[in-house]
Amino acid sequence: MTNDDVCEALELTGKLLELHGENPFKTKAYANAAYKLGKLRYDFEGKTLQDIESIEGIGKSIASKIAELLETGTTNELQGLLQKTPPGIIDLFSIKGLGVKKVSQLWQELGIESVGELLYACNENRLVSLKGFGAKTQDGIKGAIEFRQANTQKLHYATVERLLPAMLELLSKQQGLRAEVVGQVRRKCEVIDKIEILLNADKAINTDSIEAQLPVPVVYHICEPENYVYNLVALTGTGSHLEKIGFKSLAPGHFQSEKDVYKALGFPLPEPETREGLEEIKCLASGSWPQLIDTADLKGILHNHSTYSDGVNTLKEMADYCRELGYSYFGICDHSRSAGYAGGLSIDRVLEQQSEIDRLNAGYTDFTILKGIESDILGDGSLDYPEDVLKTFDFIVASIHSNLKMDEERATERLIRAIENPYTSILGHPTGRLLLARPGYPIQHRKVIDACAANKVSIELNAHPYRLDIDWRWIHCCMEKGVKVSINPDAHQKAGFHDMYYGVCVARKGLLTKEHCLNALSLTQLLKVFAKQ
Ligand SMILES: [Zn+2]
Ligand SMILES: [Zn+2]
Repeated sequence: MTNDDVCEALELTGKLLELHGENPFKTKAYANAAYKLGKLRYDFEGKTLQDIESIEGIGKSIASKIAELLETGTTNELQGLLQKTPPGIIDLFSIKGLGVKKVSQLWQELGIESVGELLYACNENRLVSLKGFGAKTQDGIKGAIEFRQANTQKLHYATVERLLPAMLELLSKQQGLRAEVVGQVRRKCEVIDKIEILLNADKAINTDSIEAQLPVPVVYHICEPENYVYNLVALTGTGSHLEKIGFKSLAPGHFQSEKDVYKALGFPLPEPETREGLEEIKCLASGSWPQLIDTADLKGILHNHSTYSDGVNTLKEMADYCRELGYSYFGICDHSRSAGYAGGLSIDRVLEQQSEIDRLNAGYTDFTILKGIESDILGDGSLDYPEDVLKTFDFIVASIHSNLKMDEERATERLIRAIENPYTSILGHPTGRLLLARPGYPIQHRKVIDACAANKVSIELNAHPYRLDIDWRWIHCCMEKGVKVSINPDAHQKAGFHDMYYGVCVARKGLLTKEHCLNALSLTQLLKVFAKQ
């Protein structure tokens, strides 16, 4: 069992005990244990009962349950609880806004035992009369279920990219078979609901074992070998892209390369990921295709965390690894003091970190650590430290992490106040979205981008494959307004630096060039930009 599995099992045990009316001290003990274990940074696998009992805050009785979990994958207690609970009830726990108490009410008072039944009950307006619910709660629950339904059978691009090579390798074993991904995957869309593969002949190889791991449908397109390139183009771009380039006017036929196809239509060759039918059409029509940003253009990595706040690696480990990867600067942006849940830095800790940075920088000749902070944007739009602390940083990423429930006007205003703060350098993950999990607060992108332009603030493209926020569809607007885009991994451990790649993928979808990318600047140029504010 992984640590996460253990924590999940403990949490579920606690919830089920509460659901079945057990003593609250007992149920809380499980929740607390799950929380404590979730913070530990080592593997539990192979730990003995004695080891577990010595963990601070873990009582004897829970320790024995953990040992049982590690040994057998479950506990007698959990099995007993699961037996007397309808399986659909456990699903209800995963709906945002539903705690055990509410699930219990829905079950006991309305007889609801599954997510489907709950949605139906919302539509029938039956939750409103329940004690402690009301119309607002009902709307929230309904929204959460609908969001979840709309997002099942979808995958993050990064997940697909991990699973796909095995499939293509398998197909490549068949003599003479040409197989390439087309559609959303080839366009590197941030969320994938269908995998399409183009083949020049019927496949004789069984790919079931890999397809079974993919919760999205896999569609094979088979074409005549002489029409392969034509079909590659036809199946890569969106319908809108193909329509706007007049693809229909072209007869299927023998093309050597995609470049030939676009040439026959009078256009330069656009990279597959850009073929969306949006801004790329203007570039194609103008005949001058931009040189898109590439990972090799990036000179440094801004916005990263360390053990000072909620990161896994130390400041030195993060910086050294960044340098090893060939970057010339590293921006540390641990959480600010209001972010208690994430180990936000007190003023003393900020100063401590800054003197460590001075010491480390003295040891580098070809590399620089920049003193940054990811400052929470407070409810009123202000930053999280007094001015005499704010001015000690080389740069500040300002992000919203709390009170995410805002309407568009309020969210936009809150962001703009933060952007207008003279110490803000970069606006962090502008909408707070988590792909397939949370839509993010609504903002008026144009107003936010205008404010960034007026205040010389850059906008983050958070490169984590679950965020990719700012949405790439707004990048052209940033470029038009002269707002630089900063591709930031928001790395919480060394491996997080590799997410830069996903940021670059969507940046290219948005046609970003290196001239408009903040961290494609050399250190000297970057410091000039920061100093201008
Ligand atoms: Zn953040
Ligand atoms: Zn962060």
